[in-house]
Amino acid sequence: TWSTRPQRILRAVQQSATRGDPRSVVRAIDQFCRHKEWAMNVGDEKGCILDSVVSELNPSTVLELGTYCGYSTVRIASLLPPHAKLITLEFNPDFAAVARQVIAWAGLQGKVQLVEGASGDWIPKMKEQFGVKTFDLVFLDHWKDRYLPDTKLMEECGLLRKGSILLADNVICPGTPDYLEYVRNSPRYKSQYFKSHLEYTKAEDGLEKSVFLG
Ligand code: SAM
Ligand code: MG
Repeated sequence: TWSTRPQRILRAVQQSATRGDPRSVVRAIDQFCRHKEWAMNVGDEKGCILDSVVSELNPSTVLELGTYCGYSTVRIASLLPPHAKLITLEFNPDFAAVARQVIAWAGLQGKVQLVEGASGDWIPKMKEQFGVKTFDLVFLDHWKDRYLPDTKLMEECGLLRKGSILLADNVICPGTPDYLEYVRNSPRYKSQYFKSHLEYTKAEDGLEKSVFLG
């Protein structure tokens, strides 16, 4: 019968992950995407870098741009301290529906607010709609031509404070040249590249971690 890749990812989770065990959800998705069907999750290799940034920062407020099936959402949320909150944005309603079930399977629905809609529409409404002051961490992993305009929008909307971290995926593959140019050359950021590989492949890719200096 007909199904979409996100639905097949959800089925893999339901078949092989333990309810309430985020690590088993991550493992089930990686297993499926490495051996059955490639998908655009940050993946296990870059996922370890993501985990270490989250653990080191211990953020109370996190924004994720691009949820897809909720893979990175589960990785991040499972590492957050008790009262922290993660807002994740996804504009594709079919992906959002799958992500909600994946996040719930991991038992993380209490930590995650999944918001359906486009980043450019929601970023200006973050403060009034969700009562956030600033984000400690932003994970950028939506369409690559949106990284730069959305970063400038977050700056304009006062969502970044001195010390906020932007962590951007896929800066090499597919690549985000205008964004990299900006964070590496702007005096408002201190930026660092973490070399790795495109999810489930041997092609070079990496994460760019940029500290907002105010
Ligand atoms: N972060 C996810 C993970 O690692 O598991 C993968 C996210 S996937 C690479 C990118 C997602 O961003 C897609 O599901 C796409 O529909 C969504 N997206 C792209 N542009 C967007 C935008 N401007 N606003 C909201 N969602 C967007
Ligand atoms: Mg990515």
